[in-house]
Amino acid sequence: MQIATTVAEAKHITRAWKREGQTIGLVPTMGYLHEGHASLIERARRENDRVVVSVFLNPIQFAPTEDLDRYPRDFDRDCKLCEEIGADLVFHPDPAEMYHDPHAYVNIDLLSDTMDGAARPIHFKGVCTVVSKLFNITQPDNAYFGQKDAQQLAIVKKFVEDLNFDVKVNGCPIVREPDGLAKSSRNTYLSPEERAAAPVLFRAVQRGREIIAPNMKASELEAQMKAVLAEEPLADTEYVTAVDALTMQPVETIDRNVLVAMAVRIGTTRLIDNFSYELPRA
Ligand code: AMP
Repeated sequence: MQIATTVAEAKHITRAWKREGQTIGLVPTMGYLHEGHASLIERARRENDRVVVSVFLNPIQFAPTEDLDRYPRDFDRDCKLCEEIGADLVFHPDPAEMYHDPHAYVNIDLLSDTMDGAARPIHFKGVCTVVSKLFNITQPDNAYFGQKDAQQLAIVKKFVEDLNFDVKVNGCPIVREPDGLAKSSRNTYLSPEERAAAPVLFRAVQRGREIIAPNMKASELEAQMKAVLAEEPLADTEYVTAVDALTMQPVETIDRNVLVAMAVRIGTTRLIDNFSYELPRA
């Protein structure tokens, strides 16, 4: 497995593979890898000749008030995991290698004004910019993103289509702890007491899955899920929203395919979870 820290090195390696006609799968990550990331890398390994994992804590998707400084890092452990799964290249640039001030951005107003985009106004601009750069640098045929960040996945699919990137964007299921908590690098922030409270997000997802039905009022669905969250004293709900699966805009009734997503603070840690619902065909 090779490690590239400069754009030039990563381009050199991936361009050589392309010239040989090999397919490339890219898994973009911010590092501190866990089984959720591993599932994406494993799928990329199965579906491509070459696998690139980017480990880049992207500063421009964090607001100054957010957790960039304390975000967990362990690059040696990340490399071991990538090597075990059989990745061919880890791309691990410095922020200074990726961004020169002033820098151009890729932005998407569509799909990013609700939920996480509303709570974190610069977040998806940072995500779209870094993903575009990673696509141009590594030239993947396939890219793999988790359903855990469902709004991010929808946004990436949209800008890849709108800007004609030649990349197939693949969504991968949420990997969970045995008690249902979605795996996340941020789970390390939780105290033992907070960790015990955190599966309440999954219980709300389960409640939502049980009761959702065609033509149900979204407000009723959201209220019942919020009631589950309210049973946990350490949980502070930021949003629970049912949105159109493609536009990410709130729906009033469940009359199409929807994403039902939530953000909840447990102490100071912001956790997200969601489920997708496809309307049964008439
Ligand atoms: P991150 O390092 O948090 O930016 O995540 C990198 C990629 O891994 C994103 O596409 C995430 O959606 C995905 N991911 C993170 N956690 C999980 C999980 N628990 N299950 C599936 N995919 C995940």
